[in-house]
Amino acid sequence: MENQNRHFETLAIRTQAEQSDFREHSVPLYLTSSFTFEDAEQARALFADEIPGNIYTRFSNPNNTELIEKLCLLEGTEDGIATASGMAAMFTSMAALLRAGDHIVASRSVFGSTHQILTQILPRWGITHTYADLDRPESFEAAIQPHTKMIFVETPSNPALDLIDLEWLGKLADKRNIILNVDNCFATPYLQNPARYGAHLVTHSATKFIDGQGRVIGGAILGKKELIKEIRFFARHTGPSMSPFNAWVLSKSLETLAVRMERHCANAHALAEKLLGNQEVEWVKYPFLPTHPQYELAKKQMRMGGGMVTFELKGGIKRARRFMDNLQMLSLTSNLGDTRTIATHPATTTHSKLKEEERTAVGITPGLIRVSVGLEHIDDIWRDIAQAIAHSV
Ligand SMILES: *Cc1c(COP(=O)(O)O)cnc(C)c1O
Repeated sequence: MENQNRHFETLAIRTQAEQSDFREHSVPLYLTSSFTFEDAEQARALFADEIPGNIYTRFSNPNNTELIEKLCLLEGTEDGIATASGMAAMFTSMAALLRAGDHIVASRSVFGSTHQILTQILPRWGITHTYADLDRPESFEAAIQPHTKMIFVETPSNPALDLIDLEWLGKLADKRNIILNVDNCFATPYLQNPARYGAHLVTHSATKFIDGQGRVIGGAILGKKELIKEIRFFARHTGPSMSPFNAWVLSKSLETLAVRMERHCANAHALAEKLLGNQEVEWVKYPFLPTHPQYELAKKQMRMGGGMVTFELKGGIKRARRFMDNLQMLSLTSNLGDTRTIATHPATTTHSKLKEEERTAVGITPGLIRVSVGLEHIDDIWRDIAQAIAHSV
């Protein structure tokens, strides 16, 4: 059966490493650092890239290959590599393709460590950046310089949940001959496929919704064959590879991504509506709420609204902290994309390293609360949030 005719759910389940002589139904874990050669000639041919096959797990391993094949089918990309973490994916996707003198245009709201890479690490090697604003697409065009080699964006952004029109951005990148690199962590391949709109690279933290159960760290870089070829060369020799164990876990996680995301989104949407109707709530933001300033765009490029909701209670930061302290079931942790619903206060935790004005510029008000909506029953999630709102007055 041809893969082209299969749906997302089927590809996520039926893309499997070849069965071994043991006729296992579920793909086993290949915990081996190296692979043997049949003879001297096969060893020579493998090292000369004349035949496909595994040599050493830093280069490839059956579990990693299965994960990548599956992610490529789900994202609609030609090739990819799995990395030890989401940050290894972000850094490798930049370091492998850029050199001294090159310039990146990035969305101002990026994951904290991505901000550190752009502002503290890449400049050591003469790679500079300019930030642009997701809600002002023209600022991306204005930021492009003669040596701009990459546009890097997160959409929806963390935690402001701002979007950018990927179709428009894809056309801009093509017109100006710039690599478009999209961190698709918040949407997952189930909700949004940036490559369909012209992204040359799609980067992921697999730690979040892809694992979805808060167990392992991982990342992936997916995209055009010729770019991945350069990235693979860089990764093979610098070593940010994913462990086979994590690849094995994550490939099995993908089997349930579609059903999990359906429930994450249904719960998040319901929570956003309940917050919208609550007297104590100053504002609530969710891409699939008609009150979101980019609701139409969200509907155009995302299948559903995602599992993240942000809101602010009347009473600002003091109220936000009292709300957090009154939660009984929700977890207080900085992670997201878990079966367990998580509440985070970005201004004092994940985004505390930013200056106040930098937070304001990316929509993080002092009282903003970010909820990663899990898979518990929505009535139980709401009961805990409602009582914490009531007790935080
Ligand atoms: C968590 C996250 C990352 C970093 O991923 P790790 O797996 O923690 O290294 C990058 N981008 C986004 C949007 C994230 O949420």
